[in-house]
Amino acid sequence: MKLKSQNVRVRFAPSPTGFVHVGSLLAALYNWLEAKKNGGVFILRVEDTDQARLVEGSVENLLKVLRWAGLDPDEGVSFDKAGKVTEKGEFGPYTQSKRLDIYRQYAKELIDKDEAYYCFCTKDRLDTLRAEQEKNKQLTKYDGLCRHLTEDEVAEKLKNQESFVIRQKVPTGQEVVLHDLIRGEVKFPTDSLDDSVLMKSDGFPTYHLAVVVDDHLMQITHVIRAQEWLPSSPKHLLLYKSFGWTAPQFAHLSHLLNKDRSKLSKRQGDVAVEDYIKSGYLPEAMLNFLAITGWNPGEGTEQEIYSLKELAKKFSLDRVHKTGAVFDREKLDWINGLYIRNLDIKELTKLCLPYLGESVIGNQKSEYVEKVIALERERMKKLSDISESTGFFFSEPEYPAAMLVWKKSDQEKTKATLIKLAGFLGGVKKWNKTDLETAAIAWISEQGLTNGETLWPMRVALTGKDKSPGPFEVADVLGAEKTLARLNAAIAKL
Ligand code: GLU
Repeated sequence: MKLKSQNVRVRFAPSPTGFVHVGSLLAALYNWLEAKKNGGVFILRVEDTDQARLVEGSVENLLKVLRWAGLDPDEGVSFDKAGKVTEKGEFGPYTQSKRLDIYRQYAKELIDKDEAYYCFCTKDRLDTLRAEQEKNKQLTKYDGLCRHLTEDEVAEKLKNQESFVIRQKVPTGQEVVLHDLIRGEVKFPTDSLDDSVLMKSDGFPTYHLAVVVDDHLMQITHVIRAQEWLPSSPKHLLLYKSFGWTAPQFAHLSHLLNKDRSKLSKRQGDVAVEDYIKSGYLPEAMLNFLAITGWNPGEGTEQEIYSLKELAKKFSLDRVHKTGAVFDREKLDWINGLYIRNLDIKELTKLCLPYLGESVIGNQKSEYVEKVIALERERMKKLSDISESTGFFFSEPEYPAAMLVWKKSDQEKTKATLIKLAGFLGGVKKWNKTDLETAAIAWISEQGLTNGETLWPMRVALTGKDKSPGPFEVADVLGAEKTLARLNAAIAKL
């Protein structure tokens, strides 16, 4: 029997700076899958140490997005039963701004161990240093001036309340080796690393210190995060070593890309999950799409459609792509359309109602609305498509008379044809798409008419559009009474 790996604890650790990027949702999903696959715990930690970048309401928004996706955290920042933001779990607080004392204590420990040092350099000095390094085409990094202050000098400056930061004392001439679960071995010479700031002058930790302290104290076993943090990982590994802690395992996820293989940007389309929710993408479809965009299930399978449950069984980090994956919007639309068509019609109708608007639907019977949606869903890519395409089912279409005239016909002929057609349809007994179509096509040829000159004006009369579902499908949904009324309205226009 295969034993479950024990106590997998993963965290999704976003900074609450506004909307949720689709790449963040992918990171949340892959963390969640890794946890569920191993019977582990999915934790949400809020990384809000960069106070200048905070956006009010971001945490609540983030939790709403996770709830929409069905990825509620098991531990950490989460909604309580009443839908209020709270924290649960025994390793809290899970919001970094509530943990400042903890970071101070650990920064002090690093100083005491000579693994970090006070730096009193002014902003002016650092700016000049950087400008000079840039001019000389050197690596821009701190030159280590304050590494060499004596204990007395430091004590004196502290006594004089000089402003300071605490920097990591990165060893020189070494190599840090990261065993990344996705990328394999990645090596970093320590001479390329900066003595990064760990504690800022305002008493807040930087990301580097906070992330290591928290991942350790929260007993995180796997750090699964975006590729942009890969260059920071050697600093983190060095900090684990400085503290004498065992580092978690790391997996760095590749960026999502635009079609031109640049990093996914707003310029080329939506990147905020909230925008996809608003347009009516289904969570199951979005997760399915994100799962197969950055991961493949292995050779010998062409399968592209997965439920979340199935993904939680099949997912594995070693099959996550090492190189960036294109965020293919057409594929997302295709998957979403597929999920839409698989929904029960009552369920789909419920989901479509907000897009149709109550005022549009008026007091139409629910069977009528369901029929409209059943017809439209064949073409739907997202729920919001319903509002553009179905207006004519709920209010009388408006269109210019000229639209009724087929390209090979004229106004007079069109009028005569519609009058005859209305007469014929008035006598049809079996009012459903198939019977209507069979009877009408036979009648058209008996009359010596053509399909084009008859069905074009019929469809325009019923829909007011030059593109729409076919005339018999629409007539079926509208019913005999409305169909005849619309044909008569068209005749009156000509
Ligand atoms: N707070 C970082 C972010 O906003 C997360 C970094 C990490 O997961 O280590 O993306």
